[in-house]
Amino acid sequence: MAEVLETTIEEQTGIRKVYDAMIGSLQSKPNTADLEQMERAFKMANFSHRYQRRKSGEPYIYHPIAVARICAEEIGLGPTAICAALLHDVVEDTPVSLDDIRAEFGEAIALMVGGLTKLDSAYANESQQAANFKKVLSTLIIDVRIVLIKMADRLHNMRTIRSMPEHKQFKIAAETSYIYAPLAHRLGLYNFRSEFLDLCMKVLEREEYDEVARKLQETKAARENYIERFIAPLRERLDELNYEYRIYGRPKSIYSIYNKLKKKQVPFEQIYDLFAVRIVVDVPVNKEKLACWACYSVVTDVYQGVPERLKDWVTIPKSNGYESLHTTVAGPDARFVEVQIRSERMNEIAERGFAAHWKYKGVSNQPDVYEQWFDSVRDILDDPNSDTVQFLGDFRDNAFFNEEVYVWTPDGDMKSLPKGATALDFAFSIHTDVGFHCQSVLVDERIVPLSYRLKNGDRLKVVTNKQQRPNEGWLKLVTTGKAKAKIRQALKAERKEKGELGKEALLRKLKNLHINDVPAAIEQLSRHHTEGSHVDLFYNIAQELISIAQVLGPFIVENGKLVPKAIQLPEETKHPLVDARKRNPANKEKGHSKLLINGEPGDQFEYSMATCCNPVQGDQVFAYLTANAGLKIHRSVCPNAQNLMANYGYRIMKADWVSTTESSFVVNLKLTGLDSGKGVIERISHEIAEMDLNIRSFSIDGTDGFFEAKISVLVKNKDQLYLAIQGLKNLDHISTVSRIEE
Ligand code: MN
Repeated sequence: MAEVLETTIEEQTGIRKVYDAMIGSLQSKPNTADLEQMERAFKMANFSHRYQRRKSGEPYIYHPIAVARICAEEIGLGPTAICAALLHDVVEDTPVSLDDIRAEFGEAIALMVGGLTKLDSAYANESQQAANFKKVLSTLIIDVRIVLIKMADRLHNMRTIRSMPEHKQFKIAAETSYIYAPLAHRLGLYNFRSEFLDLCMKVLEREEYDEVARKLQETKAARENYIERFIAPLRERLDELNYEYRIYGRPKSIYSIYNKLKKKQVPFEQIYDLFAVRIVVDVPVNKEKLACWACYSVVTDVYQGVPERLKDWVTIPKSNGYESLHTTVAGPDARFVEVQIRSERMNEIAERGFAAHWKYKGVSNQPDVYEQWFDSVRDILDDPNSDTVQFLGDFRDNAFFNEEVYVWTPDGDMKSLPKGATALDFAFSIHTDVGFHCQSVLVDERIVPLSYRLKNGDRLKVVTNKQQRPNEGWLKLVTTGKAKAKIRQALKAERKEKGELGKEALLRKLKNLHINDVPAAIEQLSRHHTEGSHVDLFYNIAQELISIAQVLGPFIVENGKLVPKAIQLPEETKHPLVDARKRNPANKEKGHSKLLINGEPGDQFEYSMATCCNPVQGDQVFAYLTANAGLKIHRSVCPNAQNLMANYGYRIMKADWVSTTESSFVVNLKLTGLDSGKGVIERISHEIAEMDLNIRSFSIDGTDGFFEAKISVLVKNKDQLYLAIQGLKNLDHISTVSRIEE
């Protein structure tokens, strides 16, 4: 047990300083009453956290103060939210109750603190994390400031993540990139999103992050010089417009640069897209549009524009409220440069998102994009039966879209939907009932399939039929979270109805067997057969997909209870990890382990490499305890793993490579290049043989003189993989080589 130390007087001096600095960072000067209330919130938090310390050893109270400061400085929230931020961990971590807070600070602040308190672990179901997040989202409708404080809390935890054990870092980083980054984007908190993704990359792809950061640093002077050269002639012409304005170069985030490197498959030196130039004009709202286009005119007079790269979110903002005019021009040395043009108001909205939007509410005549979005979140939250993991997926689909299409209803109303949305999504966006009874959709008077992907400017009409009902296949035809949630809800209701007969039959049987606790027995059976879904169990029985005898087969009845036939494990081995501790004959044969799992030799466990990401020795990895296939080893960047970690963090174990292994690993590579006629396969296989690698499979596809090949090879470790990729890249006629996930 670590010794618990109360904060010392010296520490209190430091704490007071940091608190005062936080108050100083408030956007507008607080009045006496506000100051007094924040002081009381601070005192309560400071006192109740006095025995707690963070992992780094510093007093815990630094965390809530830091969160409050992010709220004040980076989001621009006011005194009430600051009080809630200061108190946000009090109910969860100290003896203070929500009632105490209500008595002291009133309903509004208690409501916020309540929203920020994690669900009691008594609610623990399969995914505690998902349940907690669902709770956070439901507060969106009560008071958006709660979610904003939650974002500040997460940002501070991410900024200080290094003080946590590594496997916990993975879990938190995965959850952040899976949920919080898209949510930040949806709330228009662009800076939060970039910082989240950069901090996640620092954890999940450390080497790659350091590499990009180093190169950015090395090329900094040259880049600044170029930006100056680019801006100088623009300044002269912009001055003539007689607007107050700022023009500056802005580096892009490490994460976005790295993604471009991966996507475009070019070396760092050839990426010109490392920065954007921003022009911010200070004009009244009614002059904004004119001013932005005047600047655009100047920019394209000086430099040649690339018309297809013009994006106008000034006329129609993005659905998360973003307003800006983007264009790309050919600058000096024929390098492409992105220029972003916006007003000070638009800039504040882009940086502060929702909070700034609130400030300008009603100032511009744009539709209230957040109201529309809240409606769609409300729709997903409405479904009382949706399980939380499903919900999270639906929410993500809904939150993640960056681009949208604009279509028209027959009445001439414009609607925006995420890019990729289908005709059926459109029907659901009108009304749930229109979706349910959608028979066909007309685009410009012509019937299109329900899977038709919407295009900008489409004029759509939905034909309904009372007889029509959603079916399983519809889930594949829609992409929006709302439509998916509604269809699933309808299908579930139908299954439930059809399952009634099965339910009756099973209840009769359990009664005959004199089972005492029938609900518990049903829970047990559905866990065994249908992953906990009662509806599915009853439905399968009703549809004769499984007989009652088969349902009860794996159990015997003892003292009015169902007991599994398999030998029961003794009490103390209840931890799930112990179940995985079956000696795996395959691992044992080799006589040594490739991995340490939670610091213990891996051959004690049943584990295998995940086939979705095929880790090789040297990759950053972790172990995930599956329900019935032992441990799976994933790469920390595996897209599946992110989902797993975000939802089932408690099943994550630490895994480290043992450096002296002789094992081989499967890796999938994708190659593209020019097909010079013949011999491509021979040359590639020759090269691989030269490198002493074994090919497991090889497939190649080609059209119009290009080819794309997929190769599975066996390698010993990451270094050998790196050499193999370099070797292949050096071959004539090969343009790209990349490691792929399936
Ligand atoms: Mn916190």
